[in-house]
Amino acid sequence: MKYPVLVIGGGHAGVEAASASARLGIKTALVTLNISGIGQMSCNPAIGGLGKGHLVREVDALGGIMSQAIDNTGIQFKVLNSSKGPAVQASRAQADRDLYKAEVLRLVKKEKNIEIVEGQVSKILEENKKVVGIKLEDGREILADNVVLTTGTFLKGLMHTGEQKVCGGRVGDISSNSLSDSLKEIGFELGRLKTGTPPRLRLSTINFEGLEIQPGDEEPNPFSILTEKITQKQIPCWITETNQKVHDVIIANKERSPMYNGQIKSDGPRYCPSLEDKVFRFKDKKKHNIFLEPEGYDSDIVYPNGISTSLPADVQEEFVHLIKGLENVEIIQPGYAVEYDMVDPRNLKSTLETKMVEGLFLAGQINGTSGYEEAAAQGLLAGANAALKYKNQEPLILSRAEAYAGVMIDDLINNGVDEPYRMFTSRAEYRLILREDNTVFRLCPIAIEKGLLTKEHKERFEEINSEFEELKSFITTYKVKPSEESAEYLATFNSPPLKETMFLSDIVRRPELKLENLINKYYKKSLKFKTLAQSLEAELKFAGYLRRQELDISRVKKSEKEKIPENFKYEAVSGLRIEFQQKLNKIKPHSLGQAMRIPGITPSAIALLSVYIKKHKDQASG
Ligand code: FAD
Repeated sequence: MKYPVLVIGGGHAGVEAASASARLGIKTALVTLNISGIGQMSCNPAIGGLGKGHLVREVDALGGIMSQAIDNTGIQFKVLNSSKGPAVQASRAQADRDLYKAEVLRLVKKEKNIEIVEGQVSKILEENKKVVGIKLEDGREILADNVVLTTGTFLKGLMHTGEQKVCGGRVGDISSNSLSDSLKEIGFELGRLKTGTPPRLRLSTINFEGLEIQPGDEEPNPFSILTEKITQKQIPCWITETNQKVHDVIIANKERSPMYNGQIKSDGPRYCPSLEDKVFRFKDKKKHNIFLEPEGYDSDIVYPNGISTSLPADVQEEFVHLIKGLENVEIIQPGYAVEYDMVDPRNLKSTLETKMVEGLFLAGQINGTSGYEEAAAQGLLAGANAALKYKNQEPLILSRAEAYAGVMIDDLINNGVDEPYRMFTSRAEYRLILREDNTVFRLCPIAIEKGLLTKEHKERFEEINSEFEELKSFITTYKVKPSEESAEYLATFNSPPLKETMFLSDIVRRPELKLENLINKYYKKSLKFKTLAQSLEAELKFAGYLRRQELDISRVKKSEKEKIPENFKYEAVSGLRIEFQQKLNKIKPHSLGQAMRIPGITPSAIALLSVYIKKHKDQASG
């Protein structure tokens, strides 16, 4: 049996890759260490957050499963930055860790085209730089036309807790050593990165008295358009903080910290520092917040968000007990850091297929990213592209103007990484366009065209779209007259009376007004999809900025259309400096647009390239 698509790894990238390929009607093997590890959250039991929430909605609009899994198992939903502008608001939800994993497995098993195989992959099989299958540690070989590799933190994973070093991708799991060697043998450039996790605490031994309680949103907002309402019980978190005594213990044990005594050699994420990092780097800060997040309804485990550490277990015992509420807490599992091999993502095309081996795609943490959401979005696109390649169809490439997933992949393949890459809204130049609230309009049509949405998903999008159009048509045609009634109504929002008859769509541009309120007063119909009001309001209020961004985008699109042939000889472009030739040869950009985004490539180099390509195109066609 030869599989058209075979996915290695059942983590967040792997399940989306397998599911996307299966949705495209392709028989897909999902080979993973153990079925019980499918969908496991290695670190914090939460999905979404700043920048990441956008990715989850994109996964949903492309038919993925992460959004459904969290909607069905989320125990606390919260919109972050809710008082700020729509571009930087973000959804986050905590999950019941065990229920989440079970739900992911249920959604994977629902796909008739997925076959799960348990086993440890030791080698990628290739012939003449084309993938032909994989070899398992037990000697079995499985043939495949396309392989998507998503092994997360497992390649030569090495866990550190103080002086103690244990091989493994995460606690309780082995590390994948031979697979890493196999990639090196093929010729991939491997790097090494690091991430970490906090100790886990026993809930029943925490003293919650006097700790600040943090509830979720009163009306939880689902991630998936398939979810009508979050109906399961929601539970709160608590907030505590570190103090000077905690910091003193850490300072006194600096020499025993693997991150500061040279034991850990690789770089971790600067934006998600360990507690040691926070204490040494932000010396003036006298305390740091810790969010005590329960891991589930019936779980006696709490995840203390904010104190990731790789200090020795005895030091963790000492400082944790100095924290308010944790004086008598039981540490179930000490925190640790993990170092692992990753593949330089500059080895990838924008489809996430490797440049070196045809039919081999990489997605997730193996590409130098960090986080479930970053992994899921890459997995979905890699799986879809593997299946589309098998079907001999055009690939699915999202631009920086279409999706955060597009921004991420473009950043990875052009810039590479020197620390684990996580998504931030600030990475996107068109973030007013890439809002959470309009994700369905940006991506569902693309997903429908590619065949990635189920019938149910497609119908839900059409329903949303028609409600949106109806609402838009109402507010752009409904007129409000200057009258005592309208003046009285507007005054309730400190808004001046109308001087002339105005369309609702113009009235809503007043900053003090919310479309939701105007709809309640004038539409006389309740919206089935509440976020549509937010989406339409953003479109109207920011129309000027959006138009300017769209102009920029059309300029960029033009340069994206100027394609560079796959085997282009940069050496042939006279005047193009060797340094530029080397950079361009390494990345092999598919268009002039992409070439412009390679760090260090100057406008004059682009001009030389452009003239050369144009001349040779003209000669070829002339
Ligand atoms: P994973 O979810 O790790 O999945 C890898 C899959 O590959 C697993 O199913 C595994 O069984 C399988 N596999 C591995 N090797 C083989 C093989 N040879 N054969 C077959 N199957 C194989 N992210 C954050 O955003 N913030 C954090 O603070 C954070 N801290 C972390 C702390 C730790 C200790 C760890 C381990 C991870 C942390 N992460 C954090 C990262 C987060 O867990 C990953 O980004 C995310 O899980 C990546 O998804 P993935 O699908 O790429 O890999």
